[in-house]
Amino acid sequence: MHRGDRIAYLGPNHPSYLEALFAAGVLGAVFVPLNTRLAGPEIAYQLADSGAKALIYGPSHAGLVAGLPGHTDVRTYLEVGAEYEEALGSAPDEPIDTPVAPDDTCIIMYTSGTTGRPKGAMLTHGNLTWNAINVLVDTDLIADERALVSAPLFHTAGLNMLTLPVLLKGGCCVLVEAFDPEATLGLIEQHRITFMFGVPTMFDQVARHPRWAAADLSSLRILTCGGSPVPSPLIAAYQERGLTFLQGYGMTEASPGTLFLDAEHAVSKAGSAGVPHFFSDVRVVGPDLAPVETGETGEVVVRGPHVMPGYWGLPEETAAAFADGWFRSGDAARVDEDGYVHIVDRIKDMIISGGENIYPAEIEDLLLAHPDIVECAVIGVADDKWGEVPRAVVVSREGVRLDPDQVLASLAGRLAKYKIPKSVVVADELPRTASGKLLKARVRSRFGTDS
Ligand code: AMP
Ligand code: MG
Repeated sequence: MHRGDRIAYLGPNHPSYLEALFAAGVLGAVFVPLNTRLAGPEIAYQLADSGAKALIYGPSHAGLVAGLPGHTDVRTYLEVGAEYEEALGSAPDEPIDTPVAPDDTCIIMYTSGTTGRPKGAMLTHGNLTWNAINVLVDTDLIADERALVSAPLFHTAGLNMLTLPVLLKGGCCVLVEAFDPEATLGLIEQHRITFMFGVPTMFDQVARHPRWAAADLSSLRILTCGGSPVPSPLIAAYQERGLTFLQGYGMTEASPGTLFLDAEHAVSKAGSAGVPHFFSDVRVVGPDLAPVETGETGEVVVRGPHVMPGYWGLPEETAAAFADGWFRSGDAARVDEDGYVHIVDRIKDMIISGGENIYPAEIEDLLLAHPDIVECAVIGVADDKWGEVPRAVVVSREGVRLDPDQVLASLAGRLAKYKIPKSVVVADELPRTASGKLLKARVRSRFGTDS
């Protein structure tokens, strides 16, 4: 392996992931973590696109790897196990003297791709370091931290908001192969876990587990929730156990920490994603890139030492993603009178009905407060009169038969009439990415037309 060579990794959370990442970093090579849920052709695409020279994979992926087409550049396949241990043991004793610079790429991380084909965000050593510093400055992590890592390490949050800052500080990470609510409660007790990071759906499943009420959660100090808006009922469920969420907002391209809501403001500013991390510049701007007035909705743009230089091999997409040095998030938000940013929704998920802008998240938040609804998505469907009207796609609590009319009645008087969905579809489940993010485009294609 040489400086700049790409080394891909495909496997569930395991110490070998971190060994390979740090080894690549020392060599000046670029680490390419792959999403374990992807199918063969998707993995093949990312291997070819990144031009990976080596692939380290877990035994659970041996079958998939054996079936990969020959058109990738990969020369070395190393299965985690005896062969991998041997390769580690045979490393030369001489120190490697190829110091990396802050601007050298450390990781190519493919964005979870809620739209279009995945793009590889190039994250430099400097990007990851500044992000970890931002987390350490803003979360008061201590050297005795014991973090539960059940978020996948191939996504930015599990790696950069949790694992790397905790290790940098000298703390301990308990790596979990796959998230499971029952196991989570057991591990918190067994390892006296102090710090957990998750997306809202993970925290939600834990709180709904029958063992939740009796579980000993007294060791928990820091709960960080990010990746999508945290529904208010979830905040309330944890507050009942004396636990408050720190909330984070960010994106793969920003390594990812961008906005942060601290414990002190978790309740008074509930619903907000907070203020910029210490070493980050964030603005909410209009189409002309000028900051919008307080309370008005605009697009979140971010600039700082944690923001990627660009997408791997995609100069045009990179140019389109930045404006005047600011990375355009594609997220709609408003800033309140105290400077706290409230994420409203993805700009492209906005529904325009009779000329009124509707942000689905506002309706989804209310639907999730319904005792019989566990998941939901609001999408726009074509309408002759209004152009588009909102439709709610809901998943009911197990064993409950939801009455669509009753669901709609529960919204009456709490939302402007034009925001109340015109139809309700009950679904078995909603399509999500590996990190738990709703795939709105897929919800739209599956449930957005009348059959
Ligand atoms: P990714 O690039 O896959 O890391 O996803 C980044 C996107 O996730 C952002 O552009 C937002 O749309 C969404 N997101 C992340 N954190 C939050 C949050 N706290 N609240 C709302 N949306 C979020
Ligand atoms: Mg994105």
